[in-house]
Amino acid sequence: MKINDNKYYYTYEDIHNFIRNNYQQISNNIDCIVAIGTGGFIPARILKTYLNIPIYTITVQSYNNNNETNMKLFQWLDMDLSNKKIVIVDEVDDTRNTLQFCVSQLKEINKLINYEIFVIHNKIKEKKWDIPKEIKYHCCETIQNKWIVYPWDNK
Ligand code: 5GP
Repeated sequence: MKINDNKYYYTYEDIHNFIRNNYQQISNNIDCIVAIGTGGFIPARILKTYLNIPIYTITVQSYNNNNETNMKLFQWLDMDLSNKKIVIVDEVDDTRNTLQFCVSQLKEINKLINYEIFVIHNKIKEKKWDIPKEIKYHCCETIQNKWIVYPWDNK
């Protein structure tokens, strides 16, 4: 990782190493990965190498409305998750709006009950949602509130 212009720059190897060193925190009775797109796609694919379970994807769009961040579904899953245990994967937990929205929609639309959360980075800042205490939250690295440039962001 390098710091430049007050931003953190990570390489593909950094991300792969984070996942290799942390995937064992995830419970071993997970049925499938649900990747939040688009940032969670590459981490989820790397995680699949270790967990060897199917990946499903969901994508949301966020937009600003009168200084408030709102979210809507862009692509979703047509699947009953009431009997599945999933791990929800995203690259970064920033304000936590995305995780909150995705969990609430997975509960409402897909009847999700059992889930864990896996992120590469958790930024130290005030969050919009407190993850329930009984939910396992796995994070590879907790970092200061600076912008992260992931390798897939590079042109
Ligand atoms: P949230 O604020 O809802 O936790 O994060 C929303 C989304 O914004 C994340 O899933 C991620 O795609 C993007 N995001 C937030 N902070 C960063 C960052 O520092 N770098 C990059 N590349 N994306 C970020």
